[in-house]
Amino acid sequence: MTLQTTIKAAQEIGVSERYAIMRRLAFLQPQIKEKEREIRLSTKELGQNEDPLERALLSARIKEVKSELHPLKRESTLLLKHINGKKEPETNNAITDEMIEHARQHPITRIVAFTSGRKTTCCPFHKDSNPSMSLYENHVHCFVCNRSWDPISAMMDSEKVSFRDAVLALQ
Ligand SMILES: [Zn+2]
Repeated sequence: MTLQTTIKAAQEIGVSERYAIMRRLAFLQPQIKEKEREIRLSTKELGQNEDPLERALLSARIKEVKSELHPLKRESTLLLKHINGKKEPETNNAITDEMIEHARQHPITRIVAFTSGRKTTCCPFHKDSNPSMSLYENHVHCFVCNRSWDPISAMMDSEKVSFRDAVLALQ
């Protein structure tokens, strides 16, 4: 998908460009992380494996994942450049208390995924294989990280954005 596709979709649906881009990034970034992880693991295994057939298969797989990763990273970079390079008019720069309050009301389960009806999930902020994160009111708490997040801080940590950008993205 291209940057233009995302912008066009945002216009058609009537949401802000920034919101559409943040959503698209939220979709792309876990896939990028997963592919980078697979490349790291396969490369490590390649360094330890002496079986010629397995080595050939691993090399082929690494090449394949790299070719899948490339367009995802390219799109993600373009999206980030687009939102970071875009200077908004001064009037749009201020965040009001109402906007912060509105962002806090954003359902946190749209940022941290929970299986429907479940109150616990694996924490996305540390390597978690046993569900350590629980949902209460519109907050999440991880017993391993020993930390709570509201929708704004969850957005900041999952998208690596500033407080201001998180509030704007949650409007
Ligand atoms: Zn955690």
